[in-house]
Amino acid sequence: MKALDELTFDNRFARLGDAFSTTVLPEPIADPRLVVASEAALALLDLDLAQAEQPLFAEIFSGHKLWAEADPRAMVYSGHQFGSYNPRLGDGRGLLLGEVYNDAGEHWDLHLKGAGQTPYSRMGDGRAVLRSSIREFLASEALHALGIPTSRAACVIGSSTPVWRETQERAAMVLRLAQSHVRFGSLEYFFYTKQPEQLKQLADHVLSLHYPECLEQPEPYLAMFRVIVERQAELIAKWQAYGFCHGVMNTDNMSILGITFDFGPFAFLDDFDQHFVCNHSDHEGRYSFSNQVPIGQWNLSALAQALTPFVSVEALREALDLFLPLYQAHYLDLMRRRLGLTTAEDDDADLIARLLQLMQNSGVDYTLFFRHLGEESADVAAGKLRDDFVDMLGFDAWADAYTARIAREPESSQEDRRTRMHAVNPLYILRNYLAQRAIEAAEQGDDSEVRRLHQVLCKPFDQQPGMESYAQRPPDWGKHLEISCSS
Ligand code: AMP
Ligand code: MG
Repeated sequence: MKALDELTFDNRFARLGDAFSTTVLPEPIADPRLVVASEAALALLDLDLAQAEQPLFAEIFSGHKLWAEADPRAMVYSGHQFGSYNPRLGDGRGLLLGEVYNDAGEHWDLHLKGAGQTPYSRMGDGRAVLRSSIREFLASEALHALGIPTSRAACVIGSSTPVWRETQERAAMVLRLAQSHVRFGSLEYFFYTKQPEQLKQLADHVLSLHYPECLEQPEPYLAMFRVIVERQAELIAKWQAYGFCHGVMNTDNMSILGITFDFGPFAFLDDFDQHFVCNHSDHEGRYSFSNQVPIGQWNLSALAQALTPFVSVEALREALDLFLPLYQAHYLDLMRRRLGLTTAEDDDADLIARLLQLMQNSGVDYTLFFRHLGEESADVAAGKLRDDFVDMLGFDAWADAYTARIAREPESSQEDRRTRMHAVNPLYILRNYLAQRAIEAAEQGDDSEVRRLHQVLCKPFDQQPGMESYAQRPPDWGKHLEISCSS
């Protein structure tokens, strides 16, 4: 473990030069306090929680102090927002402070979100509110614990600095970690502004640092695009299998690494609903839960466009066509596992689709259903779960098919089945109402609930004695929360 002043910087992105980012110093927020820190994320920097408790930690990540070796930069990008091209976005309120490498030799970007205005702020104040910072922190660490690739969050620093949204709120900063902050929109920017040299420089940067294995291929850019397609297919399969709705799948929010990135009005499903839209300003439902799959492919086609100077359109199209079959294969594999199946049969996809339709019709809790299904033998569990369905007979027919399907699996004890299923079916997810409760306490200066919730979400698959209340369906007030999209 290291002390805060022992981090080793190697600012590779900053060295690309001023065409790619602009030097901006963080603008401090007043009376900084550590709201919450992630032990696991800090460990990626070889730091421990004791470092986070030091006053210096809150001073650095609230913009009051900075290492001499840091090179804070606002990155430029553009992107497609809700299907329309926006020619100039960029870090309007976040700064890449620098890149740190740990003892294992991994590089991590330190990105401070809410660090003040930049040349890309447009009309914005450059700030992030406490509410959205806590949500990003909890979601990053919860997704990671579920095994879903994501940027990480090391801490949230709160302040007394007022910020205006719908009402007056307080500014905060969140320290985000990722191995790269290059987005699809970063490449789009250099393509659409017709800067072929810079486009190549950025593509080569990503290729050599993040996809070095592709350099050995006859067509490295095409090979890299294929891997990006594969990773995106796998990522979205995980979102769909676990009920995660991103909410703002604009291409400026799509990481070149295929990780979940940029958290806004996201939500995990409570009741299963294919058509769920978590973003209240998404009136057409472009980013509804089920649309995440075709939108994932649409976003990849926007990235492909930016790569046309390097790869033929035909080859890019062929790579894009891999997306859907790869997605389906990953999704089917995950859902089989959620159902406790270890073998594959042709009718499994149909079995899953029938179940989801029944859940949709009755608004069944998506997370708890799978957890309870593994708790007891298939027929006993189904007998208890049928009460949740309006169409009980329909569910009985499904349960008969499922029980028969389980009987065709290689023999294993119910104990093994439970262990296997509980290892992939979480008990605890980041329900909006749980986040809301923790945020309201933190807004009153009590951070204990944010910390407790974070701890619970770090072990989503483990039954945690005393934490039963975190595994409940939302109360009525929590079902219809309008999560503000301003952040
Ligand atoms: P987001 O919706 O957070 O992905 O942000 C979209 C774009 O708006 C990005 O370029 C952000 O940097 C910028 N942005 C969002 N909020 C603010 C803010 N409060 N001040 C300045 N820029 C912002
Ligand atoms: Mg964004």
